Amino acid sequence: MAKKVLITEYIHRAGIDLLEKECEVIQLENASAAAVKESIADVDGVIVRVAPMDREILAAARKLKVIGKHGVGTDNIDIRAATELGIAVCNTPEANSEGVADLVMGLMLALSRRILECDRFVRAGGWSDKDSLMGHELWGSTLSIVGVGRIGSRLAHKCRAASDMKVLAYDPYVSHEAMAARGITKVETVDDLMPVADFVSIHTPLTPSTRGMIGPRQFDLMKRSAFLVNASRGPVVNEAALVEALQEKRIAGAALDVFEKEPPDRDNPLLKMDNVILLPHMGGASHESMERMATHSAAEVLAVLRGERPKYLLNPSVLG
Ligand code: NAD
Repeated sequence: MAKKVLITEYIHRAGIDLLEKECEVIQLENASAAAVKESIADVDGVIVRVAPMDREILAAARKLKVIGKHGVGTDNIDIRAATELGIAVCNTPEANSEGVADLVMGLMLALSRRILECDRFVRAGGWSDKDSLMGHELWGSTLSIVGVGRIGSRLAHKCRAASDMKVLAYDPYVSHEAMAARGITKVETVDDLMPVADFVSIHTPLTPSTRGMIGPRQFDLMKRSAFLVNASRGPVVNEAALVEALQEKRIAGAALDVFEKEPPDRDNPLLKMDNVILLPHMGGASHESMERMATHSAAEVLAVLRGERPKYLLNPSVLG
């Protein structure tokens, strides 16, 4: 009998086509946790984007062998519970680095050249009295990156190649030599990044050590002219401290693709601020990234169901 794979949210057709060559596919869209819990009971594999895969949902799965995360961040999956239940968890770390890095560079440009403000100005009938909207060039400015893995490295490359930017990074797991080979200057603490930065961009996973790592002290250390970009995970930034820093103009502005609570509450003060750009978690959502995440996650799930070793297994003990 064909193996069954549950897809909990919309994915690009190319991934479904791959799965359907070998499996029966059950596709949900905007499903409630209760619907996911019901459908997971009888499947061999799951592809998930951001739907929670917590212990309770995983416990309802009677024969699940593999979860393919469509994306990089796995904070919606209880990997410990999956491991205890013998379920392999894989992700697609190579699928969306380019798309996120592209978007972040666009946000940096939008912040520094005040592109959204210029757009609102023209729509409101403004034209010749435009001097107050003048911004700064990226060229020659300094970018400080927190976490210089796949996305951080691609961002560093783009900013150096396109705009001759100076790039510094804090990442305790990447050596001086590895950073120097990418033209990046390593600093020893996250605080060291702050006073010199024109832009601070965060590219760490959400872990106990990164939760809240950008907070009041870091904002105090930043230049008043500097911008923060967060396209990692919302809770890496202390949002209340960011709101305060923005309200008091202790930093110039911020662009956020991610929030402590998603979607943000309607009364979140960030929604009323002019010096911020807000996106609905779009970093990995380019057409190209979506296709790569779908095909890569399908390939990982199929590998496990065939008894092969997947490329990006996050809990290797499960497959021995
Ligand atoms: P990666 O694993 O390649 O890189 C993460 C880097 O963070 C690593 O080099 C690691 O050493 C570093 N790091 C870990 N803990 C740290 C700490 N305490 N301090 C400093 N550095 C630390 O991951 P990636 O592909 O570059 O993705 C980074 C994150 O971006 C993901 O975990 C995910 O949460 C987020 N992401 C967001 C979107 C989006 O749509 N906005 C899309 C993809 C990924």
